[in-house]
Amino acid sequence: MGRRRRVYVAVNIALALVVLVAVPTWPPHLIGSANTTLLSVASLAAIWAIVAVGTGMFVNLSGLPTLAQGGLWGVGAYASGITIIHLDIGFWPSLLFAAAIPALLALPIALVALRTTGVAFLVVTIAFTEFIVLLITNLSITEGPRGLQAAEPPGSIGPLEFESLSSQYYLYLVFLALAIALYAAVARSRFGARLRAIRDRERLARSLGINVLVHQLIAFELSATVVGVAGALLLLQQQVVTPELFGSLQFIGIYLAIVLGGLTVLGGPALGAWIVLFLPLWIGSDDPNMSLLIYGVLLVAAMLVLPRGLLGALKGWTAGAAEPAPAAEPGPGGGDVALPPPVERTAQPLGDVLLEATSVKRWFGANRALDGIDISVRTGEIRGVIGPNGSGKTTLLNCVSGFLATTDGAITYRGEPLQGRRPDSIARLGLVRTFQEPEAFGSFTARESCELIVASARSREAVNEQLPEGADAVLASCGLSAAADLPVTELSYGQLRLLGVAMALSCRPYLLLLDEPAAGLTPTDAVALRDVLLNARAAGVTLVVIDHDMSFLLPICDSVTVLDGGTKLAEGEPDAIARDPAVIAAYLGESFAKRRAGMLAGEKG
Ligand code: ADP
Ligand code: MG
Repeated sequence: MGRRRRVYVAVNIALALVVLVAVPTWPPHLIGSANTTLLSVASLAAIWAIVAVGTGMFVNLSGLPTLAQGGLWGVGAYASGITIIHLDIGFWPSLLFAAAIPALLALPIALVALRTTGVAFLVVTIAFTEFIVLLITNLSITEGPRGLQAAEPPGSIGPLEFESLSSQYYLYLVFLALAIALYAAVARSRFGARLRAIRDRERLARSLGINVLVHQLIAFELSATVVGVAGALLLLQQQVVTPELFGSLQFIGIYLAIVLGGLTVLGGPALGAWIVLFLPLWIGSDDPNMSLLIYGVLLVAAMLVLPRGLLGALKGWTAGAAEPAPAAEPGPGGGDVALPPPVERTAQPLGDVLLEATSVKRWFGANRALDGIDISVRTGEIRGVIGPNGSGKTTLLNCVSGFLATTDGAITYRGEPLQGRRPDSIARLGLVRTFQEPEAFGSFTARESCELIVASARSREAVNEQLPEGADAVLASCGLSAAADLPVTELSYGQLRLLGVAMALSCRPYLLLLDEPAAGLTPTDAVALRDVLLNARAAGVTLVVIDHDMSFLLPICDSVTVLDGGTKLAEGEPDAIARDPAVIAAYLGESFAKRRAGMLAGEKG
């Protein structure tokens, strides 16, 4: 273990000792106030830490800034108090309500909020929290602004009693440990990986068959449950809760804890909560406005100076001294790499119609990007789609893959209409697309990206069994073995494009739509890509390939569709298309025709 790593571990152990041993046993005269003050601040810090962990879990994994948890932990506190008082139940059964009722209320709010992003998401969640505060201020069952009192210590469990403040403090710590364990389990699970993928690149995740709403909804529900339970603990600790404890302004303190401690480190939000609550004590101020001011200033300072938080910075410092990773061998982007033997393009009999678009229209206002396109692709085919920029190629692909609704017309896949289906649902049918600009999940390595998709594709019904299974096999088939452990941010442009195809192939599709896959590739990469596509075709994948590079595209295609101004200009075998005067005039150009004639003459001579 390196020196820095030892420092990191020592700091963690020291923090744990302070929290577990020093706080409950600290002699009162040493802090100049009664021991119970220290213990009650520490108790509150533990509860805040649970809220910070529960909120940070959602914020970190989804990337969405929620303030709804401010109201939700209030709902938890009041659910516990009201059930204790009116149902005459003890603290333990009331915890069930403190978990379930926030989760129930979170459902409609999440369904609304998750349809928005960024500022709109923030505003919707603030509105929810303020609505909750308004409700609990004005309802009679919540006892209005006076607050709800419920001084019900938890009944003992076997030999464990929870009468004393220190035993209750340990109880909060146990719940905090459970919250952190839940965060760790979610973060390390496949589910957590898919959430991070959505956070990194939402539309890429959708295109690969991941249901964004369901994932974010589950994460939001988990978070609501955790902060709800923390609300019940708050009532236990304070014995009375008032509406103003749960406003969105108060929740800034929780955000400060999350940012200060470090959002992306498991223990970060918890450490932050301790600092935030002890801060006013150290400064010697108990004016709540003063605390808010300090929180605000600190929040800005922390974001500027320690964007990864205290624990995050410490962890980064520890990792900084680790052995530098061995330089990766050059992939296809850099030269020699053993690719699977190229498959010769053989004429193979085509099957039934797999994809059919009939008079598809897509208008953007007055701009008729697609103005009645018919296209019919048969199983086993490689179909090229060419045309000038702005002719509607990408729009057609977006309509087929569900990213754009059509203005008119019908699209069927295996005879079933695709209209009304979301992109992820279309992808799960085995119809997968790539994007014109290469996209990747920024916080993953190449292998992790493919593993994520391989795992979620496994449970799907429409998988092409002929394609290789497993991330390593897919990466190898795309010539990316040597780059498998590189973070995607370190891949070359060519490798990034190939990874796009590798991720799509990880879904084991039947129909693959590629938007300019060869754009910007070196000649070596273009050869690698050609082999990948021909291998995929040999494994029963039907391909629709948009590209501008005719020397790449024409040799691999069975047929070519030419778009111009949103309509179909021509369609036919590559040779016929290359000779078609209308296509030459509209797109290929005279110089292409001459070069091609020269090449053909050279082959004959
Ligand atoms: P291509 O891929 O063939 O270069 P596109 O399909 O990207 O062309 O674009 C076709 C036309 O549709 C262009 O005029 C483009 O400006 C327009 N267009 C594409 N997407 C949108 C959009 N989301 N909103 C408005 N106009 C769009
Ligand atoms: Mg395009």
